[in-house]
Amino acid sequence: MTLLEELNWVATHVAPYELPPVCPWCSAGHMQVIEETPDPNFGALGVSSRVLRCDAPTCGKLTEA
Ligand SMILES: [Zn+2]
Repeated sequence: MTLLEELNWVATHVAPYELPPVCPWCSAGHMQVIEETPDPNFGALGVSSRVLRCDAPTCGKLTEA
């Protein structure tokens, strides 16, 4: 996969207004974006690195995407 193809993949799979994904750990909550920072490698191209947190109170799993 070339860099351009990779960026296109990110753009189509990490759309800013898509529904939050279901938590893969508890399958009950949804992953909410709690922090968004420019990607260290592709930030200049508008790519962001996002920290997600499960909104289920019994789970609360944190992950980065
Ligand atoms: Zn969860």
